[in-house]
Amino acid sequence: MRIDLHTHSDRSDGTDSPTELVENAARAGLDVVALTDHDATVGWDEAQAAADRVGVRLVKGLEISTQLQGKSVHLLGYEVDPTHGPLLAELQRVLDGRDNRLPLILERLGALGIEVTAEDVARWSGNAAASGRPHVADALVEKGVVANRDEAFDTLLKPGRPAYVDRYAAPLHEAVRLVREAGGVAVVAHPWSRGSDRVMTPDAVAELAGLGLAGLEVDHNDHDEDQRARLRALAADLDLAVTGSSDYHGTGKIGFPLGCHTTDPEQLERLLPGVLA
Ligand code: AMP
Ligand code: FE
Ligand code: FE
Ligand code: ZN
Repeated sequence: MRIDLHTHSDRSDGTDSPTELVENAARAGLDVVALTDHDATVGWDEAQAAADRVGVRLVKGLEISTQLQGKSVHLLGYEVDPTHGPLLAELQRVLDGRDNRLPLILERLGALGIEVTAEDVARWSGNAAASGRPHVADALVEKGVVANRDEAFDTLLKPGRPAYVDRYAAPLHEAVRLVREAGGVAVVAHPWSRGSDRVMTPDAVAELAGLGLAGLEVDHNDHDEDQRARLRALAADLDLAVTGSSDYHGTGKIGFPLGCHTTDPEQLERLLPGVLA
């Protein structure tokens, strides 16, 4: 049983349509795949239709942009009610923040002598509910400014680089509460990637567990072996489920193929009882 609980389609910053994503999941030998686009659930219906057709089990999820003490933390929410008003309102705030940031990024690039228009970016974000820096990166690649998304982030778009602009992210505690209130299951995505170990301390994770956090994504490319061992121990201490996943973005992220990390069936059963029945 191969289970991958974190993937992106072109409804956010992946490059596969939801249909292609599910077809590729089947091809990669996955039995269960979760679609977890950034801040959006709009890919679910298409993915479900494809999953029914190819015989893969779909877990419906999303990856919410949150922050703790100003540091970005990604929260996976599984099987939330996508019509839950307060959750939708918070997601809309995040999506508006994404849209409002885009012209500011383009302004910064312009000041550097790099001309990219909103239309240039829209050609890459056309199917996305959640537009983001990866789409700006795609436009920069198209213009020959950088070779790939990674170089765009490393030289221009990540914090500390000249075209970086911050945007709204939901307070983490509030996001955990909203996922639960919307009937879903909350798991922190790659808790210790990109320096977020500074805020995701054992005490902070314990506090989240008290608020109903259900699990930690441990097996992820952004974690080294030592981080995985320590996160696993922390999850065991706090009685949290442990997940593993690819964080697949299609051709948008090199080295993150579908199924490169997977989740134990028992852990999925803990998170979503009966999902494998
Ligand atoms: P945004 O949603 O605009 O804040 O951009 C964040 C997204 O960009 C993440 O979800 C990743 O998919 C991607 N990303 C972040 N850092 C990098 C990086 N260094 N190289 C490539 N992609 C990145
Ligand atoms: Fe992403
Ligand atoms: Fe993430
Ligand atoms: Zn992700």
